[in-house]
Amino acid sequence: MAVYQVVTLPNPILRTKALPINKINDGVLRLIDNMRDTMYAFDGVGLAAPQIGVSRRIIVVDTGEKLWEIINPEIIFQEGIMTTSEGCLSVPGTVGRVNRAKKVIVKGMNRQGEEFTVEAVDLLAKAFQHEIDHLDGILFIDKAVETRKDN
Ligand code: ZN
Repeated sequence: MAVYQVVTLPNPILRTKALPINKINDGVLRLIDNMRDTMYAFDGVGLAAPQIGVSRRIIVVDTGEKLWEIINPEIIFQEGIMTTSEGCLSVPGTVGRVNRAKKVIVKGMNRQGEEFTVEAVDLLAKAFQHEIDHLDGILFIDKAVETRKDN
């Protein structure tokens, strides 16, 4: 078990487009384990690799039902719109209202290197969109229609 410090603004890695994973090796699996441990340690519902200082395309998400570990995640379908409140471990003390698709289908790879798709709505859809944005250097404050301090 390894809990990392979560990088926060203005660390430039949060604004960097992360690189895809070409080969799943022990280092990648360890990285996923560390991301999972860090997410749970900080009570997050999701974490992207750049948030622990690694600019690679991996996310972990758990909104309370199941742990999702997704390598090279991509949104291949989206539908509807919802406006809900968001925060981010990398932007401490700020919350905002953000418009997101209500439903998404995400394609990616699991730890075994197998491709899969997952359909998500509401909170899980929001978490996937938020974390995948991190892989492109995008933060929720960029999309927020309104933000406020939450200390
Ligand atoms: Zn975030």
